[in-house]
Amino acid sequence: MDKKVRVRFAPSPTGFVHIGSLRTALYNYLFAEKMGGDFILRIEDTDRTRYVEGAIENLINSLHWAGIHYSEGVFIEDGKVVQKGDYGPYIQSERLDIYRKYVDQLIEEGKAYYCFCDKERLDRIREERQIKGLIPKYDGFCRNIPLDEAKKRVANGEPYVVRLKLPKDTDITFHDVVRGDITINTEDIDDQVLLKSDGFPTYHMAVVVDDHLMGITHIVRGEEWLPSTPKHVFLYEALGWEKPEYVHLPTVLNKDRKKLSKRQGDVSVEDFKDKGYLPEALNNYLALVGWSPEDNKEIFTMDELIKEFSFERVSKTGGIFDKDKLDWVNAQFLRNQDINVLREEASEELIKAGLITEDFAKNNKEYMEVLIDTLKDSISLMTELPEKAKFIFEELPLADETKEFLEGENAENAKVLANAIEEELSSVDEITLDYAKTFMKSIQKKTGIKGKNLYMPVRAMISFSVHGPEMDRILYLLGKEKIFKRLDKFK
Ligand code: GLU
Repeated sequence: MDKKVRVRFAPSPTGFVHIGSLRTALYNYLFAEKMGGDFILRIEDTDRTRYVEGAIENLINSLHWAGIHYSEGVFIEDGKVVQKGDYGPYIQSERLDIYRKYVDQLIEEGKAYYCFCDKERLDRIREERQIKGLIPKYDGFCRNIPLDEAKKRVANGEPYVVRLKLPKDTDITFHDVVRGDITINTEDIDDQVLLKSDGFPTYHMAVVVDDHLMGITHIVRGEEWLPSTPKHVFLYEALGWEKPEYVHLPTVLNKDRKKLSKRQGDVSVEDFKDKGYLPEALNNYLALVGWSPEDNKEIFTMDELIKEFSFERVSKTGGIFDKDKLDWVNAQFLRNQDINVLREEASEELIKAGLITEDFAKNNKEYMEVLIDTLKDSISLMTELPEKAKFIFEELPLADETKEFLEGENAENAKVLANAIEEELSSVDEITLDYAKTFMKSIQKKTGIKGKNLYMPVRAMISFSVHGPEMDRILYLLGKEKIFKRLDKFK
């Protein structure tokens, strides 16, 4: 029987989750769900210079918001970071003894060595190599220090790191599910530092040890890690461990085919959350950046993604992140959301914008539903709703074109219509939806004005624009009092 699939998302807690990382998490999740496997969240915090307070919480909250669930690793419970599972700890800074043990084993077996070169020397060789146009690489100065002597120097308190001892001029080959077989010669790879002078392992050492000890079967990560993979493969072999499968995902690029970076605006999951994107839409769109389904389908529920996702259809070239497309996907989800959810979200936005009060939202559920139903097709994001709904709650200045329209040859029509509307409305207590539907017909009958000459001026007078939602909806949403007030100046 095949081994149970175990995958992991292993971010460094840098303070925010890049949407490229979210996509990595998503693909791991989809694959784990599809295969009935385990999905683990591990925190890779061995680079202490990059440590950010609260970053773990932020990361977990972002995954939670996105609806990407894992079954093992690091969680938040009652506001505290907790770890669950049989393979812990899942935070690398709590596993230092484990790494040390394997580093020592590699040293004893001659597959790693102590290196005492100081920063000045390393800088100098880097510069020298650069001048000669060679790749920056350690020159192996400490490779052949006899182990006894090195140990004595360590015992004497000399600062050191431990480096991988790669064999000379040897091909390292591995298979990547997306890219096929990849071979790299050790002459092109550095004798990677495995243990730093602060006693922390580097990412390379920690990732291999943890992936092995945690029983990870598939490494699904961004292609920026592809150049590191031969070192990892060598480590698996050096430690006598079975290699996992590798799946390197194409980088998420912007429209200029450059890496999507923070300088260009929104790149973190939080940015998108704050802008009002729906997690389902963000996931759906991200799934399509670098993966394509068998047909041209574009809108997926998470369950559908799980069913259809496969690494075979992950592309080799970078996926373009197109914000307009994301907006479109978001709009599709928005339109199809459950009306109760929509109402809650819409109320929240309108309250935030100061257009309605909490009490109003609570006491006018049906009204709120009509409002959303009326405006949802004109927005891609719920955060755009206040702008579209503003004319309902506030008097707005007339746009130049609307002003011209009403003051020019339509002035007389406007006046006749304003008076007719007022007369007609005086006969009812309130504008119900049904009443609103027949209203314009009555005005037409009353005034003899029809078509564009009827609709455009009325629209302009009561909604401050010649464009907008259906007339009956506008009438219902505004209500009698507001309409009276707005018509006053045209009578
Ligand atoms: N800690 C690495 C990162 O921040 C994980 C890379 C990997 O998945 O191996 O992306």
